[in-house]
Amino acid sequence: MVNDFNRLDQAKRDDDRRLIDRKFTEAMRSASRKATIHLSELQPGRDYTNIARRADLLLSRCSMRPRLISHGTTMEFAWRYSTPLSEGLHLVVALAQMGLLGSIRTCANEKCGAWFFKKFPQQKFCPKGNCEAEYRKSEQGKAHRREIHRRRYGARKNLGRV
Ligand SMILES: [Zn+2]
Repeated sequence: MVNDFNRLDQAKRDDDRRLIDRKFTEAMRSASRKATIHLSELQPGRDYTNIARRADLLLSRCSMRPRLISHGTTMEFAWRYSTPLSEGLHLVVALAQMGLLGSIRTCANEKCGAWFFKKFPQQKFCPKGNCEAEYRKSEQGKAHRREIHRRRYGARKNLGRV
């Protein structure tokens, strides 16, 4: 679902960019150098429609209801989900509404692969366990570190600091 929503976002950006590029070219060729985007041109592309349809099918399996869980001075409600999938989908929808979908990713440690919420943009490993330490010890991780150091050294050398 997260991947579908991210692809949906990408498809929307691609559609918008194509439309703007086309309009820009048209404007440059026209005498007035102006372009108008008509409402009918703001239709989603085929990719977007296909992904949206698939995402909607998955969402149609989401079922939940509010439930009164405590009643003190105020009433407190919680969601009761029919399946764990419904709970997951609800979380994804809530994050998408807040524009935070890009902050969810899977752990870069192939043995783990857990979904987690990024606390900083470059975060690649889940906060649980020692996935990052494990990755650094692996051949792939060591090669990655070597590449980073090689690039840093190159950059410093170009600046005449080595
Ligand atoms: Zn992990």
